[in-house]
Amino acid sequence: MSTEEQRKKKREYMQEYRKRNPEKFKTKPKTEEQKQQHREYMRKYREKNLGYKFRERERRKEYYSENQLEEQRKAREYMRKRYLANKDRELAKGRDRYRKKRIEWDAFLATKECTHCGFSDPECLDFHHMNPAKKDFHVSAMMSLSWKRIYAEAEKCIVLCANCHRKEHARLKRETI
Ligand SMILES: [Zn+2]
Ligand SMILES: [Zn+2]
Repeated sequence: MSTEEQRKKKREYMQEYRKRNPEKFKTKPKTEEQKQQHREYMRKYREKNLGYKFRERERRKEYYSENQLEEQRKAREYMRKRYLANKDRELAKGRDRYRKKRIEWDAFLATKECTHCGFSDPECLDFHHMNPAKKDFHVSAMMSLSWKRIYAEAEKCIVLCANCHRKEHARLKRETI
């Protein structure tokens, strides 16, 4: 029997036991004085621990500011080890995330059409940045971004079909030469 099963069994047994002997688990009503004592105790406890937590936070801040690079390296190494130890699970998780995102993205694209000619096959739609200094929108590259950032980027673009997109870039190029 695994530890997990043992714990579960014990939990179930305790629940049963409680049900069978409710009088053993009845809490006596506290007097006003006891309540006051408890409140006082909790106040002192919190004060003491707040002080401790505060000092601890300061201490850590100082430590990290002195050892930042080392700590970052440690964190990266830890993440890498964890990833390698659960590679299959992590890969499956990644694929799952990507699939979900892809579905939402497809639904988003389905509502769009080419601004120039009205063509609406989602496979052929591109995002063309209105600000030429910025790069065009590549789906594969932005799938790792958050939706908030993806939609924010999409806001700055017009949707063009592949043909119109090529023509638009040719026009822009001619203009600059
Ligand atoms: Zn473009
Ligand atoms: Zn078009």
